Amino acid sequence: MNSSLVKIQNLSYYYGKSHLRHQVLDNINLEIKAGEIVILTGPSGSGKTTLLSLIGGLRSVREGSLKVLDCELYRANEGKMIQLRRQIGYIFQHHNLLPFMTACQNVQMAVELQNNVSANEAKMRSRKILQVVGLGQHIDYYPRSLSGGQKQRVAISRALVNRPQLILADEPTASLDSKTGRQVVQLMQNLARERRCSIFLVTHDRRILDIADRQLQLEDGKLIA
Ligand code: ADP
Ligand code: MG
Repeated sequence: MNSSLVKIQNLSYYYGKSHLRHQVLDNINLEIKAGEIVILTGPSGSGKTTLLSLIGGLRSVREGSLKVLDCELYRANEGKMIQLRRQIGYIFQHHNLLPFMTACQNVQMAVELQNNVSANEAKMRSRKILQVVGLGQHIDYYPRSLSGGQKQRVAISRALVNRPQLILADEPTASLDSKTGRQVVQLMQNLARERRCSIFLVTHDRRILDIADRQLQLEDGKLIA
């Protein structure tokens, strides 16, 4: 594999059809290298989430080229996109944990989606990463009994447990106070450094910009370095 984990060329994106067509991304060019932490900022509605969901194979690319982990997503079929999704760790603004499962079970589910991993092995890996993020005492807690920061740590564990090469995070600190927000991104940064994975992080939070190797801004669908 070459050193670019993500390579985007002349990517444009539109919502709607014919006269209701509304352009959201306008000729985006971007490369993310292995191990790089890139932060994307920009006003609300500028297309950040759309770009992130295209990179993550959650939305179809119809104009331009988008290669992620050597997989071309332009006109990619569903099977190819599902395969790619398994190789990416996602962290969203709201933790999206399943309320009827414990912290450990939430993480474990992500492991069990991979082939060839026994339930026992999945449990062990999940317990281990929850300890790494400082939740060793909360492994069997349900989300309702965890604080916002703790829930986001579970979400980070779930995103990282399969050791993905790419992590996509959409405003991961938006629902946290500033101190907790900082701790959570530092944790992501440490884990990424240790494992040499890349992070593409969308944020409004000016207090965490310094964790980035590179900062980009999206304005009216155009990328500005
Ligand atoms: P950001 O994450 O920067 O706030 P989004 O990518 O969510 O921006 O949205 C960019 C633009 O696309 C906004 O004008 C938004 O209203 C529009 N948009 C987002 N999602 C959809 C959708 N599913 N259908 C139609 N328009 C959408
Ligand atoms: Mg958004």
